[in-house]
Amino acid sequence: MAHLVTLIPGDGIGPEVSEATRRVLDATGVSIDWVVEEAGAEVLAREGTTLPERVLDRIRDSRVAIKGPITTPVGSGFRSVNVELRQTLDLFAAVRPSRSLAGLPTRYPDVNLVVIRENTEDLYQGIEFEKGTPEALELREELRRLSGRELREDSGFTVKPISVTGARRIVRFALEYVRAHGRRKVTLGHKANIMRFSDGLFLSIGQIEAEGHPEVWFEETEIDQLSMRLVREPSAFDVLLLPNLYGDIISDLCAGLVGGLGLAAGANLGWEYAVFEPVHGSAPDIAGKGVANPIAMILSGAMLLRHVKEPAAAEAVERAVDRVLERGDVRTPDLGGSSSTDEVAAAIDRELSA
Ligand code: NAD
Repeated sequence: MAHLVTLIPGDGIGPEVSEATRRVLDATGVSIDWVVEEAGAEVLAREGTTLPERVLDRIRDSRVAIKGPITTPVGSGFRSVNVELRQTLDLFAAVRPSRSLAGLPTRYPDVNLVVIRENTEDLYQGIEFEKGTPEALELREELRRLSGRELREDSGFTVKPISVTGARRIVRFALEYVRAHGRRKVTLGHKANIMRFSDGLFLSIGQIEAEGHPEVWFEETEIDQLSMRLVREPSAFDVLLLPNLYGDIISDLCAGLVGGLGLAAGANLGWEYAVFEPVHGSAPDIAGKGVANPIAMILSGAMLLRHVKEPAAAEAVERAVDRVLERGDVRTPDLGGSSSTDEVAAAIDRELSA
């Protein structure tokens, strides 16, 4: 039976890498019924919203989706489609593997780690108050009353909530991920000495839950320390468990350790739905030129195949990507080559059918 998959091509380089991904996934021979839906700024102009309810319904129907990146204009007044999608569908876990790929010039030949990022809380919850608004002024008054602290009148606010419920489910998800994927160690990153009641809570839930899993080597480290250790010795890490903001930043760092954003795949998972997407954004600087690296989204597609219980096809895609990179003759400019997005997809396609 065919798998029903919603495809959101996105904008910028999104449509280019989405087309390449669809081609490669179809070439595996796995039967997929694609339902294509648009979201983002262009949809806003037509339908008055960046994320129509129809798109969410399609994902609820298919339960599985793959999306290209979607631009979030800075200071535009509308919220990020990506953040809204994760919150509305309760996709509370972002899973982003980073592994050294053969044939690429990299400082770190033996990286094999996974970032697990809490996806719904923290500073990305979207509770913000613009400086000078009546709400911001009222909040400042309230904070003065509650804390006795004086804040500058021209302050803007972004709230950082971390709950026991939210922390517990992502910690349990990470511990279960370690078991299910034959990994050994979880490193929880935080800044609990400064943010005692948000990061501190995240850390204490991690410690409590880890006690029930003596088979998992659990360590915790401050996020600044973690950043330094990651660039010095990334091979010492296995699974990184991080609150939302740190997870976002460290994912890009880890992508950089192994060849850049053009290779970094990801998944957003909840109990009910799964949305796969590359770590990178819409790359406006190269959009429309046909030179975007499609591998990050193709590897996200391989994660999707594994999720829908097509592990042989997932492995075939990963092996085909490895072989193309190892040979080195077909590469996009971000990896030092001069090939186009389509040429990379065609090379992977050829490997799959070889
Ligand atoms: P970006 O990831 O789009 O680009 C950063 C740099 O990496 C650019 O130089 C770009 O050319 C390069 N790059 C990224 N993907 C590449 C690929 N596949 N192949 C080759 N080079 C690639 O980050 P940004 O410029 O900060 O963000 C652009 C827009 O994307 C913003 O509006 C941002 O909000 C949005 N964004 C969306 C998502 C998402 O949809 N999940 C994620 C991150 C950023």
